[in-house]
Amino acid sequence: MKVSFPYMGTTVVYKKLLELLGHEVIVPPKPSQRTINLGVKYSPEFACFPLKVIMGSYIEAIEKGAEVIITSGGHGPCRAGFYEKVHSKILQAENHDVEFIVFDSMFRNFKGFFRNIYRIKQNNSWYKVSQSLLFVYNMIKKLDILEKEVETIRAYEIRKGETTRAWEKIQDLFDKASTKKELEGAFNKGTQLLREIKQEKVHDSNKIRIGIVGEIYVVMEASINMKIEEILGSLGAEVERSQYLSQWINYNVTPKFINRTHEMEILKKGEKYIPIPIGGHAKQTVGHIVDFNERGFDGVIHLMPFACLPELVSQSIIPKITEELGIPVLTLAIDEQAGTANSLTRIEAFLDLIQGKKSKKIS
Ligand code: SF4
Repeated sequence: MKVSFPYMGTTVVYKKLLELLGHEVIVPPKPSQRTINLGVKYSPEFACFPLKVIMGSYIEAIEKGAEVIITSGGHGPCRAGFYEKVHSKILQAENHDVEFIVFDSMFRNFKGFFRNIYRIKQNNSWYKVSQSLLFVYNMIKKLDILEKEVETIRAYEIRKGETTRAWEKIQDLFDKASTKKELEGAFNKGTQLLREIKQEKVHDSNKIRIGIVGEIYVVMEASINMKIEEILGSLGAEVERSQYLSQWINYNVTPKFINRTHEMEILKKGEKYIPIPIGGHAKQTVGHIVDFNERGFDGVIHLMPFACLPELVSQSIIPKITEELGIPVLTLAIDEQAGTANSLTRIEAFLDLIQGKKSKKIS
């Protein structure tokens, strides 16, 4: 069957898993203005922005021949749990014949989870399935290590754009790897590529580190967040996101009673500001701001999709956190109207403010 998935972050890993299981994979095009226009056209006007972009992405995948879409579910008091229902109803109404396989947390629905694994397993043995999962998990961990390095060194590159080009090459190298040895080789080659990037020397006291927090889709998908990491890097700021795929997996596959993952710590740190689950990643957003502050980051950029209720709540709490902890936070609302030029001016002003605050401290 021709299988596709929502485009988010380093898509090479979803593609690899499905290929290892013998599927014909239809990779949706990277979200573009056309994707957004399609999503906006067919989604309810009041829907949150990620629902619209993913809608457009599905239509483009179907245009390329996708018959089955594999996606993740959601739960809690936000719209994430309804995505599949809304998307499939709209696609049906538009005469697109596509089947959905929705993976929810296995601790919420153990049977459903394994039923889905069974559906995508095809004729592969369980051994092959477990080996493929392990291989892709290792790939994700290695890509996350390199991506964190990319987000740091981009700030100091001498030839502008060199780090981003290297990161694209690295993803291609990983795409070609299908054995443990090839994966190791891709990682070593990627490390080497990053080491070769010439960097200017900047004294530690002049370095700026910015954390990026917010709803998972807009934090992880560069094509809809105005390539915020690249913008910050080109302005000389190191970046760290609140969400990485390996962390998300670790948190979601570990049973609660033995869960000591980073995300658990983050949730605890956010407890004071949002004591109950309100859906999405709002609790993580405030927890990460506290965490970035404790780790000495200079500021935080909060990405809020338009019409996202959980992030609207965290946005309303952020001034209190800033007042208590003193860490500057800039909220950027992301929707189909968001323009890079407008946000760039705000980001530059934000970094100027941070620079001024730092130099005052130093003097
Ligand atoms: S977290 Fe926000 S953007 Fe994501 S599904 Fe929920 S309401 Fe929509």
